[in-house]
Amino acid sequence: MREVNHFIGGQQVTGKSGRFGDIYNPNTGDIQARVQLATEAEVAAAVENAQAAFPAWSNTNPQRRARVMFEFKRLLEANMDELAELLSSEHGKVVADSRGDVQRGIDVVEFACGIPHLQKGEYTEGAGPGIDVYSMRQPLGVVAGITPFNFPAMIPCWMFAVAIACGNTFILKPSEKDPSVPLRLVELFHEAGAPDGVLNMVNGDKESVDALLTHPDVKALSFVGSSDIAQYVYATGTAHGKRVQAMGGAKNHGIIMPDCNMEQAVKDIVGAAYGSAGERCMALPVAVTVGQKTGDEFVERMMDAARGLTIGTSTDPDAHYGPVVSAAHKAKVESYIQMGVDEGADLVLDGRGHTLQGHEKGYFIGPSLFDNVKPHMQSYKEEIFGPVLQVVRADSLEEAAALPSNHQYGNGVAIFTSNGRAAREFAAQVNVGMVGVNVPIPVPVSYHTFGGWKRSAFGDTNQHGPEGVRFWSKIKTVTQRWPEGDIGDQAFIIPTMG
Ligand code: NAD
Repeated sequence: MREVNHFIGGQQVTGKSGRFGDIYNPNTGDIQARVQLATEAEVAAAVENAQAAFPAWSNTNPQRRARVMFEFKRLLEANMDELAELLSSEHGKVVADSRGDVQRGIDVVEFACGIPHLQKGEYTEGAGPGIDVYSMRQPLGVVAGITPFNFPAMIPCWMFAVAIACGNTFILKPSEKDPSVPLRLVELFHEAGAPDGVLNMVNGDKESVDALLTHPDVKALSFVGSSDIAQYVYATGTAHGKRVQAMGGAKNHGIIMPDCNMEQAVKDIVGAAYGSAGERCMALPVAVTVGQKTGDEFVERMMDAARGLTIGTSTDPDAHYGPVVSAAHKAKVESYIQMGVDEGADLVLDGRGHTLQGHEKGYFIGPSLFDNVKPHMQSYKEEIFGPVLQVVRADSLEEAAALPSNHQYGNGVAIFTSNGRAAREFAAQVNVGMVGVNVPIPVPVSYHTFGGWKRSAFGDTNQHGPEGVRFWSKIKTVTQRWPEGDIGDQAFIIPTMG
């Protein structure tokens, strides 16, 4: 059976732990490969390699570092088809969606190509008599990234492209559910000219994450995954003196105003709610309709739109979405549907028990639609992460806007309206990190910055964009003086610029 190895010091390394994770084909339920799960010693070997590579890489001028990024971008584009197919085969999302996943990664690599400009410091000439002040951004050292299953191309690139461009050396610990694309990214990065040890990858589970969190030579750590683990990673990493950013789960709301373009809103939301089987942290699993008439029309149209979706294998070019990632996840999503029914919400479309002829053991779930969901329900409060859309009815924009603002998660939110003033006010006031106005999935472009609020993110610096550069570098400020002659008694007082 195919095995996914670690990548340490410029080459694939076979793990010695004797522990493996199974990699499934979500279309069939078969095990298609297995992945090595690293021990603490194997993580330490990766850190040692990254540490050895750091002095030379951090002293490589930014323009040369950028050239590796340019070549990496070219290789990602040249290998797009292979990467997208491999990604679909382990994740289950359809190939068109996998291409989007890779493309969003390429976008961040493109951003990292600009590092000579992005890392420039600031300079003040003549801050005092003969005194100049300047700042510089320096890399941190060995840093690490721990990534989830749902964007195995984009999220690793969010982290290592920016971190390495800044002059750090990196350990990637991808999800053990679909590690083959991350391994290909690491290989391509070396093919692009990165020196050995600059980017390493260890596969693993909690043991390898804990090893990274406690290793004294790991200076910063970025995590994306579910909230309880994000909180644990943030608490443990910071307690061990590391800089940590830890992105967590989500429950994004879409506010449907009576004055919106209903046809467009339904088209947008059917893709945002059910696309990628709902396994996106920026999916839109809650629609809040304002007013009775808006709610009735939305539910009726959405029912038709959802019924019209084609669920197929990840290789089916006609499928809107494929299977979810695992049997355990399928069972979890279906248990949330049952919870919604038990709590008294109206299940107007039930996706459970969906089978695909010839793929009866695949992890397929049809689209589910709930009406009259109430904010006190557990199935509303928690993240489901499946093809389930919950409609909550509100009487006013104030009532609707309070729902995402008061929810435990605060990743993304969207409003559908033709009223610019209301949208502007909503965007300014809502207690959520990323806002869409007539945009259902407001994932910021790579040169802006990605991050949610509340239990969707622990730590205060976002991914990529200028915030990413800040996270992966530390600032040093130099105050220099070239005095003429003796400074006399002034040596005994705190220097002032006056
Ligand atoms: P997950 O939390 O199960 O796993 C994420 C990573 O943590 C993986 O690398 C995994 O190996 C590791 N891990 C698992 N258990 C661990 C433990 N006990 N201790 C330490 N590490 C552990 O998440 P997932 O199921 O892979 O991904 C889906 C989740 O990620 C969803 O909650 C989704 O909302 C979230 N997500 C958030 C964002 C964001 O930017 N906010 C983006 C994508 C996904």
